[in-house]
Amino acid sequence: MIPFLDLADAFAAHASEYDAAWQRVTRRGWFIAGEELAAFEQEFATFVGVKHCIGVANGLDALHLVLRAWDIGPGDEVIVPSQTFIATWLAVSWCGATPVPVEIDENCLLDPERIEAAITVRTRAIVPVHLFGQPADMGAVLTVARNRGLRVLEDAAQAHGARYHGQPCGSLADAAGWSMYPGKNLGAFGDGGAITTDDDALATTLRKLRNYGSSVKYHHDLAGFNSRLDELQAALLRVRLAHLVDDNLQRADHARRYLTALDGCPNLLLPTIPKGTEPVWHLFVVRTPRRDELARFLADRGIATQIHYPVPPHRAKAYTTTHGHLELPLADAWANTCLSLPMSPQHTAAQIDEVAAAVRDFFVMPKV
Ligand SMILES: *Cc1c(COP(=O)(O)O)cnc(C)c1O
Repeated sequence: MIPFLDLADAFAAHASEYDAAWQRVTRRGWFIAGEELAAFEQEFATFVGVKHCIGVANGLDALHLVLRAWDIGPGDEVIVPSQTFIATWLAVSWCGATPVPVEIDENCLLDPERIEAAITVRTRAIVPVHLFGQPADMGAVLTVARNRGLRVLEDAAQAHGARYHGQPCGSLADAAGWSMYPGKNLGAFGDGGAITTDDDALATTLRKLRNYGSSVKYHHDLAGFNSRLDELQAALLRVRLAHLVDDNLQRADHARRYLTALDGCPNLLLPTIPKGTEPVWHLFVVRTPRRDELARFLADRGIATQIHYPVPPHRAKAYTTTHGHLELPLADAWANTCLSLPMSPQHTAAQIDEVAAAVRDFFVMPKV
């Protein structure tokens, strides 16, 4: 059996380090806003190459709080990709603003060519998503944004360590929202999130917003939220961060194996690596019109797959009244043809080769 992802294995890979981390926190007896959070924020800001990291409770809050800090609200519009995890859209909706979808390119990333046509007088910001660990075309996105006076928030929830023309994702725009949900490349063992930015004033506002609008205990400057990254998760994340570069190299090796072995399969579209991008392969997503058949074929051989994502946000029940009427054929086509193959640092090269061989069998390709 080849699992899609095994987080017990991820923990076991460095169990003694994780054990030391949680024991350090429990012995200290300080669980919120302490030295582990401060250290993690410092270490992650350095990793991303920005001045500020603000730990928050999850990735949705990270995105939402930045849009709030920018005073985006009812009557405003924010441009988002037509296919993404629904949190990208929900962060906009939670502000009372309207997500305005723009169709995707061949890697399921916001297509910068289509942004201009979606801009109105109400547009305030653009949220490109580095989906599946592949950097969005930030040069083109930023050009449109700067010309039109729009802010740019990177949704970096799946892109810890990815680079665009040598620069880390999360350092490319006005701010970035991160998720440390357990399955992410930099996953906690529970919920977690963070924001990175070089903007001092924004960082100060966000530190208040995540903590009841307060920077001095019981003095509340803003009607804030409770969205804190706790000490236990921060301590565990510091361990995971120390291994992130190695983990991402393992993923890159797996991706290379897939790309080589599956090259030339008829009716199978593979991810491409645009010039200047260094993806971190949060997911390895292929596309085929025979998606359901392929998934069944692999399941029969004990190989687990998943679909990212089967329902594009505009087709979700949550958005039928506001967005259900929209024609977004590329988002629909993605949802109907995509299949994610097993991809994690814990998978062995032999397992990846076995998956690739099974896919070749399905397409009646000779063994390599
Ligand atoms: C996981 C994810 C989020 C939300 O993160 P949570 O920590 O689950 O709230 C946002 N955007 C994308 C693209 C994600 O994959």
